Amino acid sequence: MQYQQIIGHETIKEQLKNIVHSGKISHAYIFDGPDGIGKSMMAHAFASSIVCDNFQQEPCGVCKNCHLSFGNSHPDIIEMDLTIDKNGDIKESISVDAVRELKKDVYIKPFFADRKVYIIPSAQKMTVEAQNALLKVFEEPPRFATFILLTNGLSKLLPTILSRGVIVKFQLLSKEELLQFAVQNGLKDDNRKVLTNLSNGQIGRLIALSEDEELIELRNETLKGFEALVVGQKQNAIDRMFLLMKERQEKASDIIEFLTIILSDIGLIRSGNSGKIINSDQLQALNELAEILNYHTLNNLLMCTLSFSEGQQKNQNYLVGMMKLLISMWEEIHG
Ligand SMILES: [Zn+2]
Repeated sequence: MQYQQIIGHETIKEQLKNIVHSGKISHAYIFDGPDGIGKSMMAHAFASSIVCDNFQQEPCGVCKNCHLSFGNSHPDIIEMDLTIDKNGDIKESISVDAVRELKKDVYIKPFFADRKVYIIPSAQKMTVEAQNALLKVFEEPPRFATFILLTNGLSKLLPTILSRGVIVKFQLLSKEELLQFAVQNGLKDDNRKVLTNLSNGQIGRLIALSEDEELIELRNETLKGFEALVVGQKQNAIDRMFLLMKERQEKASDIIEFLTIILSDIGLIRSGNSGKIINSDQLQALNELAEILNYHTLNNLLMCTLSFSEGQQKNQNYLVGMMKLLISMWEEIHG
């Protein structure tokens, strides 16, 4: 992996390049930031740079270490998803046993390169016991080992772990950077702007959206369903939205997110900030809704969606929660 393949994060690229040039490579790095913004790609570019024999601005691409690392088969660059157990099952947390397995490997010397680089995704899922086990490794690391922990929130890591690592903070990508990615990856012209708007600065989300043409259709259906709740007849409107959410249950969180964005767009229009709305291709429909819904109602509608999501996190029955959501939304709109 080369740095130039990664969109954005220019300051971080410079920082990592300087580290390799200085030769002062630490034992632990913590790449922190939201999911889907390129932390894993950056970790691989950094790892390739560390093992490359002729690193300049990029890993050279011609040495043996580069051949192996570019093909994702370098034995000294080890990505270990510790949330996956021995049976291949995905666990909610990283157990102390998983870290012990990792520990067995850590003290074995590298095969080809001078250093071994471990990339550990979802490191925030480590239990306290797992973190303490890893801390033991951090306290007496073999001279050749470097760990890159990937996290989406530092608050779940122990201060003792944080103090042993170099923290690299990743920010959401700008719309311009996402647009650049969309152009490079041949996204259709008419979808580019709205897809990048909907991606919330996360390239992973942009990729998912661009690979799933139905999602734009689902956004359209959600907007039409919401319009019906505002201007339609009660039973028809509730039935329509109910049917959509029932048939697309696997996309429920997307529908709720679309609803949230629609509500926030209407709020932006009311405050004279139409230029900042996300669903910019639906300005006319949103303008009409902004004529009808005031801030107070918009805020209460947002609270309804929030309360639905909280219910779902607590395993509330989906259909019951949904009916409650639609009725409470209707009541908020029509008082
Ligand atoms: Zn190389």
